[in-house]
Amino acid sequence: MNLILLGPPGAGKGTQGERLTADGGLEYVVTGNILRAAVKAGTELGVQAKAFMDAGDLVPDELVIGLILERVRSEEAKDGFVLDGFPRNVAQGEALDAALSDLGRDLNGVLYFDVPDDEIVRRLSGRRVSEAGRVYHLESNPPKVDGVCDVDGTPLIQRDDDRPETIRKRLAVYHEQTEPLVEYYAARGLLHTFDGTAPAEEVEAHLRKTVSTLRLEDAV
Ligand code: ADP
Ligand code: AMP
Repeated sequence: MNLILLGPPGAGKGTQGERLTADGGLEYVVTGNILRAAVKAGTELGVQAKAFMDAGDLVPDELVIGLILERVRSEEAKDGFVLDGFPRNVAQGEALDAALSDLGRDLNGVLYFDVPDDEIVRRLSGRRVSEAGRVYHLESNPPKVDGVCDVDGTPLIQRDDDRPETIRKRLAVYHEQTEPLVEYYAARGLLHTFDGTAPAEEVEAHLRKTVSTLRLEDAV
């Protein structure tokens, strides 16, 4: 199964991606987490990516495409992958298509989370994350103990780019550069749209149903 999670920042891709890949069957590739780890480690990639991320812009394709395609081609992803945060523009989508065609593999589906802008602002303003990238929300998904991850006990922080002025910028970048991918995949019959405003458990149930159907289709 080769799947893409598509939607605006804060749509719930990480929340659902963690659940869908918890059994370890599919390689979960989270572009934002890979980039944030590079920034934290101070690698050359991190140094170059940081200013773009802080500003809410996309990191240039030259830095991102090779990095993610390497993961798609890796041994870990040979039984399938879930991409979260990639592709984020049509050039990235085309690069992914070319890489998959070289590998003789296909995309099974694109899972698209539809969430309006005002809800995105509410979600990103209240989002808190653990060091490992686990996702909480101050109101809709609070940790058991204030400020601490339920799973590994690390402190929860607010991402630098989850501040109001950067949230608006990221949404504008989404509409301009990422949203065209909705049509790109719909035109090929790959798009599956989910009401991302439903409670997380409902979204998860709908996603699992669709992924099961895609698995059956893949087996034929
Ligand atoms: P993305 O990975 O698409 O940026 P996240 O999964 O990090 O989005 O979710 C953004 C915020 O919204 C988080 O604080 C998360 O807890 C919250 N959230 C995720 N799914 C839902 C949902 N279905 N209903 C309400 N809040 C949600
Ligand atoms: P995310 O965690 O998905 O919200 O991503 C955080 C930031 O990382 C984005 O605002 C971009 O600056 C950068 N980023 C993540 N994925 C990509 C991508 N596919 N292409 C370019 N930049 C990206």
